[in-house]
Amino acid sequence: MTHPLLDLPPLTAARFAAVEDRVARLLGTRNDVVIMQGEALLPLEGAIRGCAGPGTTALNVITGPYGQTFGDWLRDCGATVIDLAVPFHTAVTAERVRAAFEEHPEIDFVSLVHAEAATGNTNPVAEISEVVRERGALLYLDAVASVAAEPVRVDAWGVDLCVIGGQKAMGGPAGVSAVSVSERAWARMAANPRAPRRSYLSLLDWKERWIDGGRVALPHAPAQLEMLALEACLERIEERGLDAVMAAHAAAATAMRAGVRALGGGLEPYVYEAREAAPVATTVRVRGGVDASALVARAVAVDAGVPLVAGGGVLAREMVRVNHYGADAGVEVVRRCLVALGAALEELGVGGVDVEGAVRVVGG
Ligand SMILES: *Cc1c(COP(=O)(O)O)cnc(C)c1O
Repeated sequence: MTHPLLDLPPLTAARFAAVEDRVARLLGTRNDVVIMQGEALLPLEGAIRGCAGPGTTALNVITGPYGQTFGDWLRDCGATVIDLAVPFHTAVTAERVRAAFEEHPEIDFVSLVHAEAATGNTNPVAEISEVVRERGALLYLDAVASVAAEPVRVDAWGVDLCVIGGQKAMGGPAGVSAVSVSERAWARMAANPRAPRRSYLSLLDWKERWIDGGRVALPHAPAQLEMLALEACLERIEERGLDAVMAAHAAAATAMRAGVRALGGGLEPYVYEAREAAPVATTVRVRGGVDASALVARAVAVDAGVPLVAGGGVLAREMVRVNHYGADAGVEVVRRCLVALGAALEELGVGGVDVEGAVRVVGG
């Protein structure tokens, strides 16, 4: 008996290349796109290790936990790292990036996270990229949590290395990911003696063994099921329209922020300004002596289907993350989250909770 997940014909090089081309269209780029056979951490780390070395001066923007990780990799590569950290309830500004360049004109690499699902903020990449381009530095962007939730314009913004994963707003698989690489970024890697080669982390291997050969022979067996899932989610986005997918995420975020304010009970949007709040996920601050992890545990007991998690690490006590992305990017899911959070607050004896008011505001 054949099985739908097994006994598949091999994934051809042509089909693999066609998926890369679809990702390129999604990102608005003519740069090379490499689909890496692992979760997004693989191209995120591979791109940094490919570009950075002892001669690199990197401006590392920290607006959440990923920025911290990138700084660690950069230092491990021997780069001089200038960390620009902003409080997690806000976003970085182009002015702060410009000031960093004025203080350190030798900066030649900028690492930036577009949107962070973990902190719920989004950074103004269009404005920041202008500053980076003026200064001629390479721009490395983690767009895992922004792609399909808000515009990502690789060529218009001049992003040299743009990493995406399918598992957030694209509603796709987590096991493969992609990076677009500009000519300048390839040149930087080729000139870097420490760039990984003959390594799973190596982007140069993909360039030499796949792209430069005309993408006719895959260097190794691809993660076939993940590739089919990525292809399917790209197809679904194209059918529905990228604008409609992004609009659904924006509507969910707007509804969640308004709903949280109406719900009361000490909850409020974690990111103060709506324009700095990521459409992919809304973070909620919990006050009044309530522990966010306990609140989430109760809310999930009320409605097991709601995409609520407590913040990671030190944020676990004070932050609830509402992951209204992918299939959950809708006002109905937001309404259910608010009802579950309201019931959980009431169970914990918190006063001033207005579930009906919150539901009315979101219109679900
Ligand atoms: C979600 C996310 C990733 C990928 O991390 P997972 O936890 O494996 O999903 C990478 N970068 C950012 C900014 C993210 O939000």
